[in-house]
Amino acid sequence: MNRYLELFLQSFKDFASYTWHEITFQVHPWYVNYFWWLVVLSLVVWILEIKFPWRKDQAVIRKDFWLDAFYMFFNFYIFKLIIFMAASNVTAELFKDLVGGDLHKLALVDMRRFPEWIQIVVFFVLTDFVQWLVHVALHRYPFLWRFHKVHHSVEEMGFAAHLRYHWMENVFYTPVKYLAVLLIGNFQPEHAYLVYYFNIAIGHLNHANIKLTYGPLRYILNNPVMHLYHHAFELPEDRPNGMNYGITLSIWDYLFGTNYVPEDSGKIRLGFPNIGQFPKRFWGQLWYGWRKDA
Ligand SMILES: [Zn+2]
Ligand SMILES: [Zn+2]
Repeated sequence: MNRYLELFLQSFKDFASYTWHEITFQVHPWYVNYFWWLVVLSLVVWILEIKFPWRKDQAVIRKDFWLDAFYMFFNFYIFKLIIFMAASNVTAELFKDLVGGDLHKLALVDMRRFPEWIQIVVFFVLTDFVQWLVHVALHRYPFLWRFHKVHHSVEEMGFAAHLRYHWMENVFYTPVKYLAVLLIGNFQPEHAYLVYYFNIAIGHLNHANIKLTYGPLRYILNNPVMHLYHHAFELPEDRPNGMNYGITLSIWDYLFGTNYVPEDSGKIRLGFPNIGQFPKRFWGQLWYGWRKDA
């Protein structure tokens, strides 16, 4: 147990110092700087929202804009500092102990034999699919839904809503992603950060107040029109748990028949029943999932 705790604390320190290096431009190579990538991307998408708004009457600083901006940095930097790096290093160590040392033994395929671009594509498609599955579960099971409600409490949609989510979602997503990557494994893509950048960019756009569908690519890529319906207040009778669960790819919804985009005015009501009783502030929202009356 001590060893896990030590590893946890060490990972925490390492990630804190890594983040500090990012903020102060000391990361090499310069393009693997997640902190500044998020800042620049957010500004670009925000400018696009201001220049080409879909809902023209929506304020530039819309309802809950600052709450979402806070979530963005809380989830990315403060919380990830603890859960993502530290907890996933501990998970790796735990898995290692379980299989007796060599994690590669779990892999069904040795991805190292393939060119890097294939590794990147497989890594991207695989992690997107398992995240789609987890997202479906977040809507199906009441215990998971009470945490996912934080993300669905957005009433006016804009790019920053992308990262409004309860930190517990990391706990649901990370082990599943981790296990999938281990099973179809031995990934060693040096350029995995490209997948990460791409996912964050599509996620920002999915929530942006911009009418984009990417033409025929809409059947492959999730987009703002499709994702707005994911946040719809009113659900069709035959889809009581929701629809359009896609993260970056929309193919899974088309494949499994969970797609639903009846129109594209952008003016539908967002949220869920009894949203009026849902906490409006950060700490209330963090606490909500644990409440007995949730
Ligand atoms: Zn959802
Ligand atoms: Zn969303």
